[in-house]
Amino acid sequence: MAVASGPLPPDEYDVAVIGGGVNGTGVARDLALRGLRVVLFERHDLAFGASGNSSGMIHGGVRYLSSAPHVTEQSCRDSGYIQRIAPHLLFRMPFLMPVKSARQGRIMFELIDAYFRAYDDYQPLKHSKLHCRLDPGELARLEPGLVGSIVGGISFDEWGIDGVRLCVLNALDAIEHGASVHVHTTVETLERAPEGAEGEGGGRYVVHARNRLTQERVFARAQVVVNATGAWSPITAVASGLPQARVRVRPGKGIHVVLDRRIVNYGVISETIDGRQIFVYPWQNVSIVGTTDDDYYGDLDDVRATSDEVRYLVQGVARIFPSIRAARAIGTYAGVRPTLYEYGPNEDALSREHEVVDHAPDGAPGVYSMIGGKLASYRIFAQELSDLVATREFDSGAPCTTHERPLPGGDEVPDAVALAERHGITPVAARRLVFRHGKRSLRILERAAARPSERDVVCACEPVLEAEVRHVVREELACTVEGVARRTRLGLGACGGMRCAARCGQIVAQERGLPPSEGLAMARDFVTRATATRVVALGPEQARQEALTLAHLRASLGVGT
Ligand SMILES: Cc1cc2nc3c(=O)[nH]c(=O)nc-3n(C[C@H](O)[C@H](O)[C@H](O)COP(=O)(O)OP(=O)(O)OC[C@H]3O[C@@H](n4cnc5c(N)ncnc54)[C@H](O)[C@@H]3O)c2cc1C
Repeated sequence: MAVASGPLPPDEYDVAVIGGGVNGTGVARDLALRGLRVVLFERHDLAFGASGNSSGMIHGGVRYLSSAPHVTEQSCRDSGYIQRIAPHLLFRMPFLMPVKSARQGRIMFELIDAYFRAYDDYQPLKHSKLHCRLDPGELARLEPGLVGSIVGGISFDEWGIDGVRLCVLNALDAIEHGASVHVHTTVETLERAPEGAEGEGGGRYVVHARNRLTQERVFARAQVVVNATGAWSPITAVASGLPQARVRVRPGKGIHVVLDRRIVNYGVISETIDGRQIFVYPWQNVSIVGTTDDDYYGDLDDVRATSDEVRYLVQGVARIFPSIRAARAIGTYAGVRPTLYEYGPNEDALSREHEVVDHAPDGAPGVYSMIGGKLASYRIFAQELSDLVATREFDSGAPCTTHERPLPGGDEVPDAVALAERHGITPVAARRLVFRHGKRSLRILERAAARPSERDVVCACEPVLEAEVRHVVREELACTVEGVARRTRLGLGACGGMRCAARCGQIVAQERGLPPSEGLAMARDFVTRATATRVVALGPEQARQEALTLAHLRASLGVGT
């Protein structure tokens, strides 16, 4: 079964990483590239947490410019590096910020313009264009759906990314440099190895884990353990016998609403009823409205948007872009930010800085926690921790190379139109394939050329070819329909998996040598969950139709309703 990339016990590792988000996979890649033996455990799937549910911006964090300019500087610099190592995976995201002609609107406009002039100093680091002042006529031409009395607006330039693919590519590169990555495997406890074991070449720590799909228990010995479990970090600390107070986070829930197409030409900034900044932007083939930021006390393994949160966001955007109310919502997604703990400030005023906690003072030398940070600065966070681990724990002078070595597929971006012609697929399918896989799209198309049936489009909305589904199961540790969806966006478009999940389940079952019934069960789980995330964004009439469609599909999958 393709849940692990390499053998586990009785292997000895230099470093065990807990958590397959962007920080865990980033650090696993960095340390593996330095020649260390790394094992990584992920409780669910890669990017299951915040990293796969973020706004997907490799941005500078213009908001933090006044309170924490070094966070902005760091994110801009790292954005430049991420563009270099994964050029296929980034796309330009120009934003418009309209300024209302309310009282003092003109003064606000001048202040905002001055603020963005300061931000411009950082834009070259991430190869972005400088901001522009726009008059109301220019704004209306760029985004005709904007309404209201507006004194003008500002444009500024950011970058978007698929956060899931970023994690998957970091994990893949780690594997290709010797790491062992285990998904659906929860680390349950961390033990100090018995006295003397270290001298026999054994690690200082024994990591005990359990595979959630097979219930098999596994363990690994390691000299160093990295807790990169994001919002779960305090739970992981307790399970590891570490004081919870040393890894405090202030978990902040954020949700997004997904609309079925690109309803805006640019990202548009708006405000919620209580003055928080939100946005709607075109993202891959859809539009996204986001995001909230609320203290979260619920179950981290089951974070969902509520209809209240959806209404709060839609109301905020509709104020300046009313046609959003006519757009078709096709889903929501939610994640929890592992923000550094602070008591008092409002959630969105919290620092986006990151911190490495060294647990030596807690009696656990060689154990480190990574807390906070951003997708946009994950690489530098991973570098900081890896520098510390390599020098202090392994006396290694191996330098960091993650800023210059391309991620898998990032060494060249093939011409999608030429690929489409050569392989007889649509240019849209080729373009999406190149976006996700870069040069590795050639491998997938070569596979399809050898087996023409694999050129079939399994998911028409995105679109995803059968060869790509097989590729992510074989090569990228996907083991369920949901895992395929996460890596390829299958079923995340307008049909919500109703037309493609069953076929995908069949393919996954075939690839993993499982009975077809298990493939169908995976498909049922996927569409059921997708429907639950969608229903909160639908009106009652649509929700009733959705329930009927789901019942029909479940019946056709051979499952009772
Ligand atoms: C709504 C939202 C929007 C955001 N937008 C942006 C943005 O646009 N740009 C930006 O730069 N940043 C953004 N962020 C912040 C960014 O996503 C996070 O800072 C970053 O992804 C944190 O990564 P992580 O690896 O620390 O945590 P996570 O991605 O949460 O990963 C932690 C992983 O640990 C696993 N785990 C937990 N316990 C165990 C265990 N016992 N054993 C094994 N595995 C375990 C979990 O399953 C999870 O996959 C956003 C965050 C949110 C929530």
